[in-house]
Amino acid sequence: MARYTGPVCRLCRREKMKLFLKGPKCDSMKCPIERRPYPPGEHGRDRMRQGSEYLAQLREKQKARRIYGVLEKQFRNLYAEAVRQEGITGENLLRMLEQRLDNIAYRAGWGSSRNQARQLVRHGHVKVNGKRVTIPSYQVRKGDVVSLKDKSRNMIVIRHNVDTLDRSVPPWLESASEGYEVTVRDLPMREHIDVPVREQLIVELYSK
Ligand code: SF4
Repeated sequence: MARYTGPVCRLCRREKMKLFLKGPKCDSMKCPIERRPYPPGEHGRDRMRQGSEYLAQLREKQKARRIYGVLEKQFRNLYAEAVRQEGITGENLLRMLEQRLDNIAYRAGWGSSRNQARQLVRHGHVKVNGKRVTIPSYQVRKGDVVSLKDKSRNMIVIRHNVDTLDRSVPPWLESASEGYEVTVRDLPMREHIDVPVREQLIVELYSK
């Protein structure tokens, strides 16, 4: 599955906020947002002005895509599915983004960023209900048990992340086996999703 492979700090600068795409660097003074909190490019500073309603909607959509590492087509498909589901479309969309397997690996603290968590999934380190799943966009369901393969638990990068990240799992997940296994207790409610996205603007954008 395709993914964005360009420089990710530019994405944060474009959104004028930290999207936490790089792991430890994001919490350090090396984060470019600390030094250059304006959009990239020659005319970056000129783009600090308030824009139109459409621009606000577009930026909100781009922000959500970038946080979860989803390309446009896949994001549109998720939106179409969110519309089909019962309930509030924007919340459905965010919930489905949270249900992605790479996001679960990130929330569990196995990957320092969603990108790294995605790589762990792609490389076959993650199991769902005891079976290896290598699809980062795989949607977990209520009751699923997501775990790391026994061998993978000894990988330096994973041990380091589990020991040092100190990332508490959200209330809809339950951690076990010293942090190497999480159970999806419930599907996430909006108040449990801590991403800085105004999903209503995305709905307005796609409803035009
Ligand atoms: Fe974004 Fe992290 Fe890069 Fe800072 S270091 S700009 S938060 S990806």
